[in-house]
Amino acid sequence: MSRTTQDWQAADAAHFLHPFTDFDALAKKGSRIIERAENIYLWDSEGHKILDAMSGLWCVNVGYGRQELIDAATAQLKQLPFYNAFFQTATPPAIELAELLSEVTPPQFRHVFFSGSGSEGNDTVVRMVRRYWDVLGQPERKVIISRNNAYHGSTMAGASLGGMSGMHAQGGLPIPDITHIEQPYWYELGRPQGLSRDDFGRLAASWLEKKILEVGPERVAAFIGEPVQGAGGVIIPPATYWPAIQAICDKYGILLVSDEVICGFGRTGRWWGCETMGTRPDLMTFAKGVTSGYIPLGGVMVGERVARVLIEQGGEFNHGYTYSGHPVACAVALANIRLIQRERLVDRVRDDLGPYLAQHFEALKAHPLVGDAETCGLMGAVVLARDKASGTPFASDLEVGMVCRGHCFGNGLIMRAVGDRMIIAPPLVMTRDQIDEMMVLIKRCLDLTWADVKARGWV
Ligand SMILES: *Cc1c(COP(=O)(O)O)cnc(C)c1O
Repeated sequence: MSRTTQDWQAADAAHFLHPFTDFDALAKKGSRIIERAENIYLWDSEGHKILDAMSGLWCVNVGYGRQELIDAATAQLKQLPFYNAFFQTATPPAIELAELLSEVTPPQFRHVFFSGSGSEGNDTVVRMVRRYWDVLGQPERKVIISRNNAYHGSTMAGASLGGMSGMHAQGGLPIPDITHIEQPYWYELGRPQGLSRDDFGRLAASWLEKKILEVGPERVAAFIGEPVQGAGGVIIPPATYWPAIQAICDKYGILLVSDEVICGFGRTGRWWGCETMGTRPDLMTFAKGVTSGYIPLGGVMVGERVARVLIEQGGEFNHGYTYSGHPVACAVALANIRLIQRERLVDRVRDDLGPYLAQHFEALKAHPLVGDAETCGLMGAVVLARDKASGTPFASDLEVGMVCRGHCFGNGLIMRAVGDRMIIAPPLVMTRDQIDEMMVLIKRCLDLTWADVKARGWV
């Protein structure tokens, strides 16, 4: 007999320290227990059906319950559940996945280094970038520049690369030689100054050059960024931003790292976010969508500029993980990528679902609570504003985003709140009808939040 919700919650509170969670607050409230899933829907332990507009955690791009992925894992578990890639060995799934990744990535990528997650992938980036410059005889090039409000994971290096002040405040971060510039967030930083999006994009990129000159160009190793900042709130940069960043990286010869953990595998309507944004990165971190979250896997695509140096001049690279190239994870990734190819999911996002979602979000701008609404491929954000005309935000201690998120949960919709930005990144297998269904729920939750905000006298 299965346990009751109260049973699960009690055992959970007694033993399980959740990630990114106020342990005491959760124990008092009791966690939501998710028991099963199919396609884009989840069911909790009370039998409620929930539309998962966040794809789990930005990862279940092909939807839940895909038999191809389950079969690939099962077959590989029987054939060879584990062997490592240390000491001059390899397994067929890891080799095949390396081959397939070189096919679906931009032409400069012919090699991959596997990790178990996105955070580990970014740890690898830090070690590999610094190793590259060491081998080239420029060991003073150690500094990696990132952005405020970036998310690059939760290990020591990942959290250091990230620009989340709350994370830096815990654990003495960032680690040395990682520094940050301001993010390209037009609504908050450009619009109040009356700047057009394009002008603001160029301004925000110029902050990189300013920082390079401040640090000293001979000390700068790389710049890292997410094409669209995900966990920071689906911050979609102006179209002028990334080409200007590329030009600055080229001018100073520094490596460009694209963290594609969310944007990769079709999320933006191209295979890679860098293709949507028009950059030519030297390294790309991937994770999440590589297996649609069915099993953990991450890694770094290594461009020829870096790969040739490491291969031909580097000698042994003293770095790796037990699960680098885990055969079961690689087998699932192979099935997942082939499924994305067979169902033409990337083209569907670019040509059909992305534009369709964009139309719906455009219409949301008429809502009295909505200051801005924007999408990129199949990710989107809605800004809740106290005064939509002036863009005046709510006081942050009101936590209006959390009020809205509460209504989402209550109405069978998972949408995430980042401050007062309500965000979605739904599975790429959605139909137009399911987008309509999601929009009805989003609109209902905005209406309920608007009613609360008025009733409490917050507007
Ligand atoms: C989720 C995420 C990571 C970290 O990946 P994990 O698998 O959680 O370690 C890194 N970068 C970006 C952009 C992410 O969204």
